[in-house]
Amino acid sequence: MKIMKFGGTSVGKPHRMYEVANLITKDSESKIVVLSAVSGTTNNLVEIGAFLSAGKKAEAKEKIDILNQHYQSFITELVKSVDALTKAQEVLKEHFEFLNIILRISYNEALNKDILAQGELLSTKLFSIYLNEKGIKHQLLPALDFMSIDVNDEPQVEVIREKLKAVLANFPQIDLFITQGYICRNARGEVDNLKRGGSDYSASLIAAAANASVCEIWTDINGMHNNDPRIVNKTVPIEQLSFDEAAELAYFGAKILHPASIWPAQQYNIPVRLLNTMEPDAGGTLIKEAPASLGVKAVAAKDGITAINIKSSRMLLAYGFLRKVFEVFEKYRTSIDMVTTSEVAVSVTIDNDASLAEIKKELESFSTVSIDAAQTIVSIVGAEIAAHPDTLKKVFDSLHNIDVRMVSYGGSAHNISILVASADKNRVLQQLNTGLFGLE
Ligand code: ASP
Ligand code: MG
Repeated sequence: MKIMKFGGTSVGKPHRMYEVANLITKDSESKIVVLSAVSGTTNNLVEIGAFLSAGKKAEAKEKIDILNQHYQSFITELVKSVDALTKAQEVLKEHFEFLNIILRISYNEALNKDILAQGELLSTKLFSIYLNEKGIKHQLLPALDFMSIDVNDEPQVEVIREKLKAVLANFPQIDLFITQGYICRNARGEVDNLKRGGSDYSASLIAAAANASVCEIWTDINGMHNNDPRIVNKTVPIEQLSFDEAAELAYFGAKILHPASIWPAQQYNIPVRLLNTMEPDAGGTLIKEAPASLGVKAVAAKDGITAINIKSSRMLLAYGFLRKVFEVFEKYRTSIDMVTTSEVAVSVTIDNDASLAEIKKELESFSTVSIDAAQTIVSIVGAEIAAHPDTLKKVFDSLHNIDVRMVSYGGSAHNISILVASADKNRVLQQLNTGLFGLE
C-alpha cells in the first residue's frame, strides 16, 4: 500500500486532475490518494468565515456565489458525459446549499470548521466522478470516518490505524482509495482540521497508520531545493535527506512540506518522497531515516520574526532570571525559536507577536526590554554540520558584510541558525548559496 498526496495546484484545474488520474493508475500497488482542495478554495472559505464572523452576510454571500461560479465552469470542463455532469452538479448543489444555509444561522467556531471542510470534500467528490467517467475503479473514503484528533487537538496514529482498518475492511476488492487531506473529527465528534497546509500531515498520518511502503507528496517543484528558488539565481534539488534534516528545513521555512508532517513518517519509519506532477520522472527528494551524506544540504529562511532583548535590571544574570523570562512567554503561549544569552542579557526570537505588548509589559517589571521587528531566521541544515568547524567558518566568511543579530549553534547537530534583518535576507541567501554550495 502506498500513499500519494496531491496539493491544491495539482488538482487546481481540470487538466491537472487528468494528470493525477494518470499518475495514480501507473502501477498496480494498492494506494490511498489524499487530495487537497482546489487551489484558492480554502483561502476563499477562510474569507467567507471571516465575513460571517464579522456579521457581513452580504459580502459572504457574494464570495460564495463567485466560488460557485468557479466550480460550475470547472465541472463543465472536467467531465464530458451528461451523466457525470449531472452528478457533479448535484455535488455542487449539495455543498453550496450548505454554505447558503450557514448564511442564515448564527456563526460560531464549530460552524467555521464545517465551512473550511468544503474545499477537500468538493475536490475529492469531483475527482471521484471524473474517475468513474473514465471507468477507473476506486472507492471514496470519507476522511471524517477515520481521521481524528484527541482532546488536545493532536492526532494519534494508533487510533487512526484502528479506524482506518475498519473502514478499509469494507472494501476487500478495491485497491484504489481517494480521501480528503486536512479535515478530521475532533474529540467532540465535530468536523475539524489539521490547520492550514495540513494535507501533507494527513498523508503522513495515513501512511503511518496504514504501514505504507512510501508516502509520496506530489507538488509542482522537483523536491526540496538547497535554497529558495524564488530568491537566489540557481538552486539544485536535494536527492536525499534524513528525517531530522527534513524536519529542520520544513520548520525553518522550506515551504514545500508542512513541518508537522515529518514526525508520523519518522516515528513509523515510512520513507517520504517529494515529487513533481509536472515532471513525474524527475527523481525528487527522498526522505528517510539515514542521511545520504554528512555536511550542508540546504539553507532556508523564516520571515516575520521578532527579536526581543531582555536585560536584567541587576548587573548580572542572577539565577532564576531565565526561568522568570521563560515563564512570561509560557503564560502567553508564545513559543521561542532562538535564544542567546550573555552575562547581563538574553535575546529570544518569536514568530507570533499576538501577545507582544503584554509580554513586553511583564518583562519590564524586572528588566529592560528592546524589540526588533522584521527579522529573518536563516538556517543552514545538514547532518552533523555542527561537528564540522569548517561549516561555521564558511558561513561567516560568506556573511562578512552582513550585520548578524544572533547566532544559534550547537542546539541541534543538524542546524546552524542566524538572525538577520529581513531587508538583508536576499543577500544572505545568495551569499550562502555561493559560499556553501559554489552556486552563483
Ligand atoms: N486546503 C488546505 C489549505 O489550503 C489544506 C492543504 O491544502 O494542505 O490549507
Ligand atoms: Mg501544501
